[in-house]
Amino acid sequence: MAELKNRLQAVLQQIHDAETAAGRPAKSVQLLAVSKTWPAAKLRELAQAGQQHFGENYLQEALAKIEALADLTLTWHFIGPIQSNKTRDIAAHFDWVHSVDRLKIAKRFSEQRPADLPPLNICLQVNIDDEDSKSGASPEDLMQLADDVKQLANLKLRGLMVIPKATDDTAAQHDAFQRSFILYQSLQQQLPDIDTLSMGMSGDLTAAVANGSTMVRIGSALFGRRHTQASG
Ligand SMILES: *Cc1c(COP(=O)(O)O)cnc(C)c1O
Repeated sequence: MAELKNRLQAVLQQIHDAETAAGRPAKSVQLLAVSKTWPAAKLRELAQAGQQHFGENYLQEALAKIEALADLTLTWHFIGPIQSNKTRDIAAHFDWVHSVDRLKIAKRFSEQRPADLPPLNICLQVNIDDEDSKSGASPEDLMQLADDVKQLANLKLRGLMVIPKATDDTAAQHDAFQRSFILYQSLQQQLPDIDTLSMGMSGDLTAAVANGSTMVRIGSALFGRRHTQASG
């Protein structure tokens, strides 16, 4: 217990230091705890230490944890690749989806969002480094996609999510995050309600906050290294 709590404190401190260094207000960056592959008991420990937002990549694994932790009022974010046949369960059980990259999927979410729930919060995933291996809309298609998603009744478009090419080179990290922030700002001009830039992971949190991230998605720095790869 103590160890996980200490890691949470350390990550929150790192976020705070990065905010200060960037001249940004305290608490302008939210922490999303990425809990894929970790059992529900670990998430419960972190929730008891005050963590509210959890991110999951694999639907079956996530649904089991959401059920196991139903006595807590947590906020669940789906951040993994989305297959069409999974949209109904995602729409019914999550509060946010960060990985929407095409209109077809967004339309399904809007149609399938249960009527008794508030609109599903949506971030559009952008393939900022134009990598073949990665999902995400291209920066050129983003504005049109955002306009179309904005029309869908049961969704609330919140912003963008980016996963830049993995690198330890700080200059390259800043470059990709800077390009993401410019896109985010132009989207905000078109749609002033937009308030979320989901970027930064354990290895590049500080660079992401320096370049305007509003939500960092942190897995290994909180939970430790992942050994297994779940699926579904
Ligand atoms: C796994 C994952 C993370 C967390 O990565 P860490 O390097 O463990 O912090 C963040 N975002 C997405 C989309 C992920 O799949």
